[in-house]
Amino acid sequence: NSNRHDKDKEVNVQVLLRCRPLTDDEQRLNVPKVVTCNESKREVTVLQSVASKQVDRVFTFDKVFGPKAQQRSIYDQAISPIVSEVLEGFNCTVFAYGQTGTGKTYTMEGGMRNKGGELPVEAGIIPRAVRQIFDTLEAQNADYSMKVTFSELYNEEITDLLAQEDQPKSTEEKQKKPISLMEDGKGSVIVRGLEEEAVYSANEIYSLLERGASRRRTADTLLNKRSSRSHSIFTITVHIKEGTIGDEELIKCGKLNLVDLAGSENIYRSGAREIRAREAGEINKSLLTLGRVINALVEHSVHVPYRDSKLTRLLRDSLGGKTKTCIIATISPSAHCLEETLSTLDYAHRAK
Ligand code: ADP
Ligand code: MG
Repeated sequence: NSNRHDKDKEVNVQVLLRCRPLTDDEQRLNVPKVVTCNESKREVTVLQSVASKQVDRVFTFDKVFGPKAQQRSIYDQAISPIVSEVLEGFNCTVFAYGQTGTGKTYTMEGGMRNKGGELPVEAGIIPRAVRQIFDTLEAQNADYSMKVTFSELYNEEITDLLAQEDQPKSTEEKQKKPISLMEDGKGSVIVRGLEEEAVYSANEIYSLLERGASRRRTADTLLNKRSSRSHSIFTITVHIKEGTIGDEELIKCGKLNLVDLAGSENIYRSGAREIRAREAGEINKSLLTLGRVINALVEHSVHVPYRDSKLTRLLRDSLGGKTKTCIIATISPSAHCLEETLSTLDYAHRAK
């Protein structure tokens, strides 16, 4: 793909903000809300009182989605154009960034299993992207193939969330099969040892998601029982046959990475012990490096520190250059989350 080598000064990083609604429990407990969203002005206001004075902070993003925003409208407004780029042969990445419990997985995967046919209203980005790819290519009568991988990055180690269990008794061994990262010298990243699953229909994606999600490693903390300290990376690769020249086939290849990042919360506050803190250090290293890489891209720095973390090495061919990157920062409206909300808004704002 020659386009990748163009030194274009265009910035292709979009930062969106999504605020989830109060949960039923929060509503029952009358938890105060400290976040207001103005979608048309693309503004988020955080109500904060410092020394009993009201000090509001306002943040602007490329798009803002308030608590009532539907999965579909986020997809149609922000993700669908990115998927179109992928179908044109580009590599793109969408991240969900935020504190645990703010809706990263809801945004990426969604809340409900498909019952065949139509997408459920709560379907997230992954099933919608798969559906758009199939629908577009079927309508064009294209000759194509679609493959997906689903992996997890935990403590700077990649594991396969789709690895088949041939012998159920030794699953632990199989799941821990090491996966290595390489570059092919032409700018593409090669992940050795990851199972690529061919997908033939949009509905299949739900069983793949379930298979992967059940393997996602989670560890309990006092703050949140299913607090997730790993990053999960769902990658869709599409090969589209464009024609033949002589006996050479022309293939257009695009890749979409959908990344559900580890919780961004400050682990020390949750009362976790040393080993957890160390794990958190590793997680923060990837989050920190990701922030630096995105900053460097936005500022057109000569040096982009891809090599400083596994996550950025893994995504190297899908970040920067002509690729499109979208960060969806997720926050809670609750007063209890104020500190983390401000830190998420600051992180996301720096990426702009
Ligand atoms: P995270 O992955 O960031 O830890 P989850 O996606 O698991 O957070 O969301 C936490 C809870 O809040 C889940 O029960 C989820 O269904 C719910 N939730 C999150 N975002 C929304 C939303 N925009 N609308 C309705 N429910 C949501
Ligand atoms: Mg999650």
